[in-house]
Amino acid sequence: MPRKIFVTTALPYANAPFHVGHMMEYIQADIWVRFQRMQGHALHFVCADDAHGAPIMIAADKAGKTPQQFVAEVAAGRQQYLDGFGISFDNWSSTDAPENHALAQDIYRQLRKEGLIAVKSVEQFFDPVKAMFLPDRYIKGECPVCGAKDQNGDNCEVCASVYAPTDLKNPYSALSGAAPVLKSSEHYFFQLSSQRCLDFLKRWTNAPGRLQPEVLNKISEWFKVDEQGHGGLADWDISRDAPYFGIEIPDAPGKYFYVWLDAPVGYLASLKNYFDSGRAKARGEPRSFDEFLADPEVEQVHFIGKDIVYFHTLFWPAMLQFSGRKVPDKVFVHGFITVGGGEKMSKSRGTGISPLRYLELGMNAEWLRYYIAAKLNSHVEDIEFNPEDFVARINSDLVGKYVNIASRAANFINKRFAGELRFLGDTGPMLEAARATAAAVQESYDGREFGKALRDIMAAADRINAAFDAAQPWVLAKDEARLAELQDVCSRALQGFRLLSVLLAPVLPALTRRVARELFLLDRDFAWSDALALPTRVAVYQHLMQRVDAKQLDALFEPSTPDPAATAAAGSIVLPLPGGEAIAPTITIDDFAKLDLRIARIVACEKVEGSTKLLKLTLDVGEAATRTVFSGIQSAYTPEQLVGKLTVVVANLAPRKMKFGLSEGMVLAASHADEKSHPGLFVLEPHAGAIPGLRVR
Ligand SMILES: [Zn+2]
Repeated sequence: MPRKIFVTTALPYANAPFHVGHMMEYIQADIWVRFQRMQGHALHFVCADDAHGAPIMIAADKAGKTPQQFVAEVAAGRQQYLDGFGISFDNWSSTDAPENHALAQDIYRQLRKEGLIAVKSVEQFFDPVKAMFLPDRYIKGECPVCGAKDQNGDNCEVCASVYAPTDLKNPYSALSGAAPVLKSSEHYFFQLSSQRCLDFLKRWTNAPGRLQPEVLNKISEWFKVDEQGHGGLADWDISRDAPYFGIEIPDAPGKYFYVWLDAPVGYLASLKNYFDSGRAKARGEPRSFDEFLADPEVEQVHFIGKDIVYFHTLFWPAMLQFSGRKVPDKVFVHGFITVGGGEKMSKSRGTGISPLRYLELGMNAEWLRYYIAAKLNSHVEDIEFNPEDFVARINSDLVGKYVNIASRAANFINKRFAGELRFLGDTGPMLEAARATAAAVQESYDGREFGKALRDIMAAADRINAAFDAAQPWVLAKDEARLAELQDVCSRALQGFRLLSVLLAPVLPALTRRVARELFLLDRDFAWSDALALPTRVAVYQHLMQRVDAKQLDALFEPSTPDPAATAAAGSIVLPLPGGEAIAPTITIDDFAKLDLRIARIVACEKVEGSTKLLKLTLDVGEAATRTVFSGIQSAYTPEQLVGKLTVVVANLAPRKMKFGLSEGMVLAASHADEKSHPGLFVLEPHAGAIPGLRVR
């Protein structure tokens, strides 16, 4: 009986392009989906952009765009990655799509009808300038433990303490610089701590095979309540006050769903969008979205990263259960991909790889699919991208062991036997071995043990190569009396190559499509059953796959401008820089574009009472009003030296509340890294002709 499976990957947040971690998850899920499709199962594989929430609203505001424009621009960049890496999603939607608004509101109404929504008053920091409640990450202040300045609302980067935003000393809003005020507001809660939810979640999480053992362990810690009654599940705050980019809560004016409420609903919304568009029908699913999900045989499977387990194994199944819907059957959790964990690589090659740069360099996307697959297993483990290992696995395994079989055997068959394959004697043992390999690989793919699948495939490739070499076809080819033997040896090697190709098809869809059509002359892609059928003909061998050139990897990691640290690592001599510090890590032009530098005229300047370091500058930046900037340059300048001069100011720096007032920008000046031993401060001044407000680029 074919299985019917609805598969998703986590929804990426629509504030940035994909990084290599996204591609790892999509590749993992895509391999599993393609494998299941080859077994004849019906898969519906969907995803969407996670479009809502304060970070996107604020980023859009800063960029001078509406949130809708902002996420549409990010979404427009998605397809090149998905096509580039062969990810076979059936649909890509957005959590801001109408289907998601309707479904999220429906689910909420059903939860309310079940009596699982409570309203409580919550005291929170409110920004009086921006007229909005501040999410924790937009509250800054002095660490209540160590006193470090400019720390986040929930943790200190200096002493690593964790605290509530209300514990911060001298808190200020990172959006306006204003001191926030405490204000109370009605918040809506999903009662996850209710006995009904607890009973259901204990049953759901413990269902055999639903969650990985390490995930289940983590969840059991969350359930634990100590003797004082601390711990256990808490009710979940699902509302946010306007202004918020999100979905309105029914019958609650000015209240929106917290982004994490409607994000997973996006899985269903994208599926609905796909069904309603008629494309599910075109793929052989005649039923409607509602009929499909009402079918108890349909399996719902989510691939996610280890950082979002809480949302997917507690909130999401409970929301579905108590709104009368199908609950997830499996949640497959993976670790992170790290790039260059070693010191050596972070210095010599930068710290990341961009999937787009990978494609732009003309690197084969299936190399990365193969490499990631070789590293993945069913556990929640991080994997590391290691360039030397990458080159070895592609060149030695994929090209050296697998592709070479075809080039060697097909040449004999075409030159001597007009492309015809013929087997001598009993093919039974050969097919029996093939059956055993295919069965083991099948089990590994189904259980997401991709590394083991590829190890078994490469072990089979070793056996096929060894048998081919042992038969010495180049000797047989010189003896007219032994040509039938030569044909048999090459036919067996090509049968083996076809077996390997079928087994590799979920990982290497484009390469194996060519093998099926161009070499074995099929008019379709491989089916799993092709692994065990004897081929009868092959076409002339066409080159299938290039080796990795190590230079390509250097280019992949190479910073775009020479980095002294990299030159040092490469063995050259680097002169110490007069500034006393190395050049900072490479940034992209996009990073630079985030800085808005403007020409400013210093219209007034005075010493700050009570400070030996600061000067208070009044700047004309070409705007309607002047700005005030406090600058630590009193040691180098008197106010009279600066008044009337032009300089450069960082115009889009978040305002900082200082002891003496609000500072609305930063004036640029040069100095040595060690100012004590190398005194001297030099304020930047543009060439003549510049006027206030011009952008520096
Ligand atoms: Zn601290």
